[in-house]
Amino acid sequence: MVFPLETLEDIRLDIRPEHELLRRSVREFVEREAAPHANAIDERDEIPGELLAKAAQQGFFGVGIPEEYGGQGGDHVSVVVLSEEFCRRVPAISVVFGSNELFSLPILLYGTEDQKRKYLPPIARGEKFGAFAVTEPCCGSDVAGIQTTAERRGGRWVIRGRKIFISNADIADYIIVLARTYPPPDKKLRYLGLTFFVVEKGAQGLKVGSKFEKMGLRGSHINEVVLDDVEVPDENRVGEEGMGFVIAMETFDRTRIGVAAQAVGMAQYAFEKAFEYAHQRTAFGAPLAAFQAIQFDLVNMLAEVMAARYLTYLAAHLADQGKREFTYVASLAKFYATEVAERVISTAINVHGGVGVIRETGLERYLRDIKITQIYEGANNIQRLVAYRQLVRLLREKGVISDEVAARVT
Ligand SMILES: Cc1cc2nc3c(=O)[nH]c(=O)nc-3n(C[C@H](O)[C@H](O)[C@H](O)COP(=O)(O)OP(=O)(O)OC[C@H]3O[C@@H](n4cnc5c(N)ncnc54)[C@H](O)[C@@H]3O)c2cc1C
Repeated sequence: MVFPLETLEDIRLDIRPEHELLRRSVREFVEREAAPHANAIDERDEIPGELLAKAAQQGFFGVGIPEEYGGQGGDHVSVVVLSEEFCRRVPAISVVFGSNELFSLPILLYGTEDQKRKYLPPIARGEKFGAFAVTEPCCGSDVAGIQTTAERRGGRWVIRGRKIFISNADIADYIIVLARTYPPPDKKLRYLGLTFFVVEKGAQGLKVGSKFEKMGLRGSHINEVVLDDVEVPDENRVGEEGMGFVIAMETFDRTRIGVAAQAVGMAQYAFEKAFEYAHQRTAFGAPLAAFQAIQFDLVNMLAEVMAARYLTYLAAHLADQGKREFTYVASLAKFYATEVAERVISTAINVHGGVGVIRETGLERYLRDIKITQIYEGANNIQRLVAYRQLVRLLREKGVISDEVAARVT
C-alpha cells in the first residue's frame, strides 16, 4: 500500500535520454557563461543582458513551451532540469525563466489560439519577457482579497490598481494582471469575479514603479506596478470572466514545482561544496572529513537533497502524466525542498568554518536566496494548507473519506 497514492507504479519516475541531454547542455552553459558572473550579479543586483541573450541562443527560454508555439517542449520534467541546473550556480537567472512561465502558463492553459500564437513564440525565443502581477499591498496569500478592478466599457476593459513585488516587471514586454471584474456573490464564493488580462509594455496609464531592495536573488528585480485606468481590448482577457482565481491556482500548482527545483539546485551545490571542502581542509592533522561529526553532516545533507529531488521530479512526472495527485505532491515538494535547502546550505557554511561566511566563497548568498523560495509563489504555510486540502478533496472523490468528514476538516 502506498497510500495516499494507489500503486507502486505511481512512485515511478520517467527520466528520458533527452532530459539528461538537456541537463548536460544547461550544466555546461551555466558553468562556462553564468557561474563566473554569479557573485557580481549579486553585488551589482544586475544580470548582464548579454548573458540572457546567450541563454536565448541556446533555446533555454523555450523550455516548458510546446514546440507548436516555438518552444522546446512543454513537459514539466524539463522545466525542473533547467531550474535545478541554473539554481545550482546562479539562482537569480532562474527567476527570469520562472516569471516567464508564470506569464505563459495561464495563456497555455486558458488562452485563445490567437493569444498563444501572439505571446508565446517571442517569449520562447527570449526576445520578449513576461511578468505575472497578482500580489498587492493588501494581499499576497489572500489572492481573492485583491483590490485592483477592471471595468467593462464597451469592448474594452479599464484596469485600476496597484501591484507590488512583481518579478520581471522592469524588463517585461507583457504583464498578465489579475483584477476584480465583479463583486463576489457571497462570502463563501470570494474566489469568483477575478479575471486575468494581458497588459503590454507602453500601455497608457501603466507605470512600473520603483524596485524593492531585497536580501537575496539579487539580479532578479521586483517592482511596483501601477495601473492607472489602463485600457485593454476584450481580446486581452485570458480565460473566462470571473475565473481568474482558479486560473491563478492552476498556474501555481505547476510553477511551484519549478520553485522546488530551484531549492534542489541550491542545496545540491551547497552539498558539493561542503563535500569537497571537508576532504581538502585539514584540522588537528587530519582532513575534516575524518571526523565522524562531519561525516554525519555530509550524509544527512545528501539524504535530504536526494529526497527533495525525488519529490520534485515525482511532482513533475505526475503533472506530465496528467495525474491529479501532482497538485499536492507539488506543494509537498515546494515546502520540503525549500526547507531542506536552507538546512543544507546552513550546514555547508558550518562545515566551511569562517570561510563559509566570506562573500567570495559564494555560499552565504545561497542562504539569502533560499529564504525567498520559502515565501514566493505561495508561502510554505500556504503550501501545507493547499497540500492538505487537495489531498482531502481527492480522497473524498475516491470515497476514502466521507463528505461529512471532508467538510469538517477543510
Ligand atoms: C522575491 C519575490 C518575488 C515575487 N514575485 C512575485 C510576482 O512575480 N508576482 C506576484 O504576483 N507576486 C510576487 N511575489 C509576492 C509573493 O507571491 C507574496 O509575497 C507571497 O505570496 C506571500 O504573500 P504576502 O507577502 O502578502 O504574505 P502574507 O500573505 O501577508 O503572509 C504572511 C505570512 O503569514 C502566513 N499566512 C498567511 N495566511 C495564512 C494562513 N491562512 N494560514 C497560515 N499561515 C498563513 C504566510 O505563510 C506568511 O508566512 C514575490 C515576492 C517576493 C519576495
